[in-house]
Amino acid sequence: DGRLAGKIALVAGAGSSAAGWSIGKASCVTLARQGASVVTLDADLAAAEDAAHEVELAGGSALPVRADVADAHAMQAAVDAARRRYGRIDILQANAGIGKVGGPEDISLEDWNRIQQVNVTSLLIATRLLAPMMREQGGGAIVTVSSVAGIRYTGYPHLAYSVSKAAVIHFARMAAQQYAPDRIRVNTVIPGLIDTPRVARNVARMFDEDARAASAARDRQVPMGRMGTPWEVANAVAFLASDEASYITGTELVVDGGLTGK
Ligand code: NAD
Repeated sequence: DGRLAGKIALVAGAGSSAAGWSIGKASCVTLARQGASVVTLDADLAAAEDAAHEVELAGGSALPVRADVADAHAMQAAVDAARRRYGRIDILQANAGIGKVGGPEDISLEDWNRIQQVNVTSLLIATRLLAPMMREQGGGAIVTVSSVAGIRYTGYPHLAYSVSKAAVIHFARMAAQQYAPDRIRVNTVIPGLIDTPRVARNVARMFDEDARAASAARDRQVPMGRMGTPWEVANAVAFLASDEASYITGTELVVDGGLTGK
């Protein structure tokens, strides 16, 4: 359907860290299928171009842009390029996220800081750049991407990532309060176990076993008995970004097959 017809979306972290469908790439295509033009922003230019290519294959319009979400100058340049091409930005999907396994005594300060910068400080950078534009345009929608690790212990010592993903939720709640009068809605999707190349790789690394066997073990933890697909997360993003969610702000949509029972 065309519920996003005429909208311009910027998806930050639009690519995939390995071959296959990530949440960002599936979101780019889903937003485009619903009528949005998509700025596919990624730190890796090839990943940005790959996402843009998929949008075009789906019949949409895309602009690939290379930028590190933690770099305010690069993000300014990216937003300027998007504006030159499309004139406005209606939707931000803050999707870029990184992590590293480790508890308090084994994560380096350097890794901790980088994870907070990419996962959390990036939200400040993008919001500051885009909210004034959205306000001027009469509104907009920001969708941040957290994780079930941000709301409960998932069984893996992912301290820096989990703390950052909790902050993502609260950033969105606070920004929603701030920007409600400007008709800028801010919400979060909370994906559970999603079948993406990154997860397959992480699971294999953590358990030092065949990724497929490890995934099957994880599937059994999920009440629905399977991992989610990136498309199922993308559908939640598209809903929150659309006018169908016009009275929804400052909240979270959990997409986890019943895992957290939230
Ligand atoms: P991914 O990790 O495979 O790809 C993310 C993309 O973001 C990559 O193309 C990468 O180049 C880009 N990126 C990384 N750092 C960046 C930076 N500093 N600036 C710009 N781009 C950057 O994608 P994924 O596994 O689908 O995860 C997407 C989001 O969903 C992340 O925020 C992740 O934490 C979250 N999430 C994923 C899962 C899952 O099961 N895959 C579960 C919960 C939450």
